[in-house]
Amino acid sequence: MGHPPRLIVSLHDVHPGSREQIQRQRFDLNQAGIRSLSHLVVPEFHHGASSFHDPALSQWLGEQQASGDELILHGFYHDRQGQRESLGDLFWTRLYTNQEAEFYSLSEAESRERWKKGRESFELQGWRTRGFIAPAWLIHSGLVDCLSSAGFDYSVVYEGILNLKGGSKTSLHRIPTLCWSSRAWWRRQSSLVWNGFRFQTFLSQGIDFRVSLHPLDVDYPFIWGQVMTMIRQAVRMGYQPVTYGEYQEKLLGRSEESRIA
Ligand SMILES: [Zn+2]
Repeated sequence: MGHPPRLIVSLHDVHPGSREQIQRQRFDLNQAGIRSLSHLVVPEFHHGASSFHDPALSQWLGEQQASGDELILHGFYHDRQGQRESLGDLFWTRLYTNQEAEFYSLSEAESRERWKKGRESFELQGWRTRGFIAPAWLIHSGLVDCLSSAGFDYSVVYEGILNLKGGSKTSLHRIPTLCWSSRAWWRRQSSLVWNGFRFQTFLSQGIDFRVSLHPLDVDYPFIWGQVMTMIRQAVRMGYQPVTYGEYQEKLLGRSEESRIA
């Protein structure tokens, strides 16, 4: 062993409408010692303006990549427009998420089309992407099997990183995540208490963990205050900030066996 514990910070839902919040988050995190993190970029959030046609956003993201951040394809539309759903899907599509689980039941052909369009647009911007993360981390298992042939090295779900380059089989490397819910008062209160408890557990055991942030988090001072306090404490305790891509490449690498050995 001997390596410091790792902290993966990710900024979810980057698009023209969230640019200002994302930039405030990045600034504060930089001040707190997070030199590299992952931006989850949505090409056309809720079928709205393209993230690639917003010069202020694309230039800023290019600069973040040049200074060590990672840009990741995060869905394509981040909504379920035009998709049918069965009664059994409703918990995930309506209650757990607000109609945002784009890849929860999308067909393989349509998924491949969106991945291709997303990757091509990233390339045109000069952005590299090795990972794909589905909105709300919801992706059905049939699609996970297609990700490697679509050119991705890893994906991420709530439980951890799906390493697609670890040999013949996709493996899940579990890394817990903290995330805050800003959708309703009771959700906000309970996430503060729950996250505080889990954070202390991670630190006391020195285990790797993730901090997954959403644009609205920065607008609630008590949420953002807790986020920043935790980040500063983790950095002080020797946690090393890494991107998802760095983690997959350096710690999971080609095979799970070599990492464990
Ligand atoms: Zn998202």
